[in-house]
Amino acid sequence: MTAAGAEHRSRALELGLQQTSTGSCPRRLAGLPHRAGSCWCESRLNDHGRRYRCTRDGRPVILWEPYSAGGEDLADVLASATADGLQVTVTGASPWYPGNTFVIAFEAAS
Ligand SMILES: [Zn+2]
Repeated sequence: MTAAGAEHRSRALELGLQQTSTGSCPRRLAGLPHRAGSCWCESRLNDHGRRYRCTRDGRPVILWEPYSAGGEDLADVLASATADGLQVTVTGASPWYPGNTFVIAFEAAS
């Protein structure tokens, strides 16, 4: 693992997120397959995408950490995630590059 990767994992842990893989297709959280070549997870917003386990309650969560998001791209992702039964949260608590990247977090709807 690179030093940058280790620092990213460490910052994620401080936010209560244990990285479990580099898989970044949110559809997996809903038990749906990734659709190579036509999946909405191939959005430009899927930057530094990783899968985590919440250390508080063990639930899986996928974070994308882009530097910015155009409204149209964001609307597309939100619509697709909702259609697949996922909950989406956008926060500024980004472990990748605090102060520069932000988080789009996906979870299975409860
Ligand atoms: Zn996918």
